[in-house]
Amino acid sequence: MTATLKPELLRPEDISRPSAALSPLQRAELLPLPAPYDRDDAQPAYKKLDALTQIDTSLDGFAAVGVQRPSTPDEEHEFTRRFIAGLRKLLSKADNWGFLEQLTLSLEHCTRCQSCVEACPVYTASGRNDLYRPTYRSEILRRLINRYVRPGGKWISSLKGEDIELNATTMCRLVELSYRCTLCRRCAQACPIGVDNALMTREIRKLFSMELGIAPKEIHDKGSMLQLRTGSSTGMNPSAVKDNVEFLDDEIYDLTGKKIQTPWDKQGADVLLIHNAGEILAWPENVMAFAVILEAAGISWTLSSDLGGYDNVNYGLWYDDAQFARVALRQAEAARKLGVKKIVLGECGHGHKASMVIADRILTGDLNIPRESSLVLLRDIVQSGRLKLDPSRNNFPVTLHDPCNMVRMMGIVQPQRDILKAICPQFREMTPHGVENYCCGGGSGFAIMSPHNFQDWRLSVGGRMKLKQVLDAFADQPGPEVKKYVCAPCSNCKGQFRDLFGYYGVWEKSSILYGGIVELIANAMTDLKQPFIQWEFH
Ligand code: SF4
Ligand code: SF4
Repeated sequence: MTATLKPELLRPEDISRPSAALSPLQRAELLPLPAPYDRDDAQPAYKKLDALTQIDTSLDGFAAVGVQRPSTPDEEHEFTRRFIAGLRKLLSKADNWGFLEQLTLSLEHCTRCQSCVEACPVYTASGRNDLYRPTYRSEILRRLINRYVRPGGKWISSLKGEDIELNATTMCRLVELSYRCTLCRRCAQACPIGVDNALMTREIRKLFSMELGIAPKEIHDKGSMLQLRTGSSTGMNPSAVKDNVEFLDDEIYDLTGKKIQTPWDKQGADVLLIHNAGEILAWPENVMAFAVILEAAGISWTLSSDLGGYDNVNYGLWYDDAQFARVALRQAEAARKLGVKKIVLGECGHGHKASMVIADRILTGDLNIPRESSLVLLRDIVQSGRLKLDPSRNNFPVTLHDPCNMVRMMGIVQPQRDILKAICPQFREMTPHGVENYCCGGGSGFAIMSPHNFQDWRLSVGGRMKLKQVLDAFADQPGPEVKKYVCAPCSNCKGQFRDLFGYYGVWEKSSILYGGIVELIANAMTDLKQPFIQWEFH
């Protein structure tokens, strides 16, 4: 891929030089959208922050984390001292055994060819703002390590013309810059050497969280901490989650005519299904459809009311190894206590990667319980003939969003396509798709982050490429007359679609609904008393 770099490149050392904004977002330069989304009024005006705010917005005018600048020289000194201690730990086998090898490879082998930059949807959708170039933040991390941690760093960096100053401005901007990347790893896939700029971004986030206690409130305080305290990042404790699902059992009867009692804590079940608990509150139809399908297919399954057993989210994946490990161990322990044959992850992309890939590093012995994607189980059910399915019930245009964690990171590409090709006669792919997909723009925690004015950035830049892809997939029927469906089998991605579609008025302008894959399967079932998908609840 040929890099199309602008002539006015930012230099890594510019990050430490105070200014109102290192590289402000230019709204007029954003990636053009098709009509009617190309009009100036197609998206809201950006929120204005209080002029007196103490929050540092000197990166690009936006704030995802909202760091306050140190107010005294002593505070700034302490800030930088702890940051350098964190840099040392990133390079220490004892402190960073899980990621040191990949980090070292990425730090030492980038040839600066820039072949990765055009792969980044944030960079390209922003109008190629150099600040968001995948290699920009990596080069800053690389230079900081070389300058402040390597022996003779000060002298060698200056000799090579790669000096960089670590001060409060650098750090406040670097925190924010680590939250302008969705960790989608499209750039890593494009790199001929295997350098992983997303991994380096996560290492920056990790340093700030684990050494300085700086992380977005939505993913730390209201995420990991709440989950460890109550059992779920939704705040639902075991009794609340059971009450909510019992209510859904009644709803299933009203909607489908099927009497289902969701099994709880069934010892020795074949399958422990762990949903993203956010589904229960935000998209209950997803939880209901799973119950309808598993019961109709005769699967021995259960939910768990253990503190670690009913929410598959693990936000530590995005920013903090210690929080990651605490949640992963608790989830595995819930499954071990029930003696289930396997854990099946509901429609949650990061939950998939957290449990099935990263947790492999810490789940050993009797905690290493087989873990499987629900997409695989659902494909097997659909292909087994155990459900009575009529594809004509889904005779409307359907396209598929590939959640990055399931698809690019884990290679789960085909099962969801096998299902959709079997039950959706008007299925069409987005361009590009599969492992080449674009992130929804809500990855790495963004879908639940709207503090300060960050929502404007996440929806007008982060999700812009995905919105264009969805609209292009339905270009043959762009108007509101024909109802269309984006299948997004991931709770996090659905959160982003909900906000993205609301921001641009996509239902009103184009009648595009988003939802999971189980809803489409249930909608094709012939023995339900009415269509499962309720279009009016868009
Ligand atoms: S990360 Fe890979 S593709 Fe990007 S500049 Fe470095 S070597 Fe080139
Ligand atoms: S991980 Fe994705 S969002 Fe982040 S720099 Fe790479 S391509 Fe861009």
